[in-house]
Amino acid sequence: MTHYDLVIIGTGSGNTILDQRFADWRVAIVEKGVFGGTCLNVGCIPTKMFVYPADIAQAISTSGPLGVDAELREVRWHEVRDRIFGRIDPIASGGKEYRASHPDNANVTLYDGTARAAGDAERRRRADGADRRPDRAGGGQQADHPEHRGPR
Ligand SMILES: Cc1cc2nc3c(=O)[nH]c(=O)nc-3n(C[C@H](O)[C@H](O)[C@H](O)COP(=O)(O)OP(=O)(O)OC[C@H]3O[C@@H](n4cnc5c(N)ncnc54)[C@H](O)[C@@H]3O)c2cc1C
Repeated sequence: MTHYDLVIIGTGSGNTILDQRFADWRVAIVEKGVFGGTCLNVGCIPTKMFVYPADIAQAISTSGPLGVDAELREVRWHEVRDRIFGRIDPIASGGKEYRASHPDNANVTLYDGTARAAGDAERRRRADGADRRPDRAGGGQQADHPEHRGPR
């Protein structure tokens, strides 16, 4: 079992945690879904990108009473969708590639899979009744997934 000083579960806001403070820490990032989390992939960003063309279509279909005669001929749904995810997907894959392969992240191992608390980390929470930072030397949290790539 590989031990880490810090295990980050999820790559939404979790992906923003790492900075120079952790440069000499042994870090694991675990993501069970698409790299980048909810906001980037299915939440805030695609939502707003869908809302804008929807607003345009809506404005045209309701412009008559305002004295603007316009006709909505067609909404090319597949093009709307492909434009949005053609912008978003490279950001997600680029972020993943950066964490997985860039020299800036030589101390980081990225796991595709579901993380779960195990061993000492769980016992310590039960004993104290409060979360504590894991012991750096002992590595109180572990990435436990059979498909891990292992440390570089
Ligand atoms: C449609 C929609 C629109 C939204 N619009 C806005 C907006 O305009 N403004 C705004 O502020 N907020 C908005 N939000 C909310 C915003 O997206 C979330 O608040 C934000 O993404 C939460 O970030 P997070 O890092 O906590 O979680 P997430 O971004 O959800 O990241 C959690 C990540 O952890 C992973 N994960 C979870 N459990 C495990 C595990 N056991 N092992 C491995 N990986 C795991 C998940 O796969 C996920 O990628 C919107 C949400 C939705 C759904």
